Amino acid sequence: MNSQPHNDDLAGGRLTIDLGALANNWRTLNDLSGASECSAVVKADAYGLGIEQAVPTLWKAGCRTFFVALPSEGIRVRKAAPEATIYVLAGYLPRAIETYQDYALRPVINDELDSWIAASGGTLPYAIQLETGMNRLGMSIETFVNLQTSGLLDTHKPSLVMSHLACADTPDHPLNETQNTEFRKIIELTYSEQTSLANSAGIFLGADYHYDLVRPGIALYGGASAHAHLRDNPMQPVINIEARILQVKSAQPGATVGYSGAETIRPSDRPEGNNRILATLSVGYSDGYLRAAGSADDHQGAFAAWHGVRVPLVGRVSMDLLTVDMTEHPDSEQLLGDNWQDHWIELIGPTVKLDEVASAAGTIGYELLTSLGRRYHRTYINDL
Ligand SMILES: *Cc1c(COP(=O)(O)O)cnc(C)c1O
Repeated sequence: MNSQPHNDDLAGGRLTIDLGALANNWRTLNDLSGASECSAVVKADAYGLGIEQAVPTLWKAGCRTFFVALPSEGIRVRKAAPEATIYVLAGYLPRAIETYQDYALRPVINDELDSWIAASGGTLPYAIQLETGMNRLGMSIETFVNLQTSGLLDTHKPSLVMSHLACADTPDHPLNETQNTEFRKIIELTYSEQTSLANSAGIFLGADYHYDLVRPGIALYGGASAHAHLRDNPMQPVINIEARILQVKSAQPGATVGYSGAETIRPSDRPEGNNRILATLSVGYSDGYLRAAGSADDHQGAFAAWHGVRVPLVGRVSMDLLTVDMTEHPDSEQLLGDNWQDHWIELIGPTVKLDEVASAAGTIGYELLTSLGRRYHRTYINDL
């Protein structure tokens, strides 16, 4: 799909997804992982960006292996990339064997190997996830060793043995080294076609963590995977969100803005008078612009931007609306008396970063992406 002119006359917010940037991010991570295969984690609808668009782009960039959370997502990936290798992180869900068979989905097994082998007749490829310190999903080392000793893993070789890092976003966290050592020790006990440990942040920990296959998610979509990337993110931004201005008004000092009167207008030092210029925008928390990103007298909220200049949110984020303070913006006078409804304010994009808005809302880019609402006018640009 090319960048086509679109009619957004009915839109309150528009979301532009740069598939070219997604492809570039995959290539960057692929280069960083050297000889390891670079897969793509596309669970949760490709982190909110759309499996049907993201997967074909990643395939064209060269990606051949995809990870989803659930079999239903695996079906969608299969349709978008008929030749792909697809792993289901939830493992094998009982009574769903037809789905795994028909769509060639490979479960990432935790403790349900017996039921998988019984249901699949022991002929279909699968992965094993090992517990090395995350204590979320994964087979205990003890169980794995017992399976190995019983000979079961020789007759039913996993195509992939993997584990997951708990603290890769913090490179000097001791658990990284502990998990890596544990993983290395265990995989020496058995044979599998491939081994894998690293998510996005794990790739940046270096070659020691790469094994045969790496599993980036967030970095593909332009988000910060490591703490250091909050300041300096090597990935290209993929999403751009803009909100239409619905109204511009002049507000008196001492008045309050929005629900609960959470923020009081401070006097401005405009030569024209000490009122402030507020713009109310047509995006709110129902669009996934988190309510926690709002502002109050005792709490600085997120920023938006217009013409590359940042402007602060003022007051709470409503369901369908939020308000920004345009007073200090060098072009703010343009908005008074102008046809402001044709102006769009950047909420996330080149000036205001995804992770910056996420931090202002007390969360991470992952949650912001996977919360993106359905109401945006969505446009996909720069597909390969
Ligand atoms: C989500 C997930 C990933 C991807 O993690 P990112 O931090 O988004 O790169 C990799 N492996 C597993 C097991 C996951 O659950």
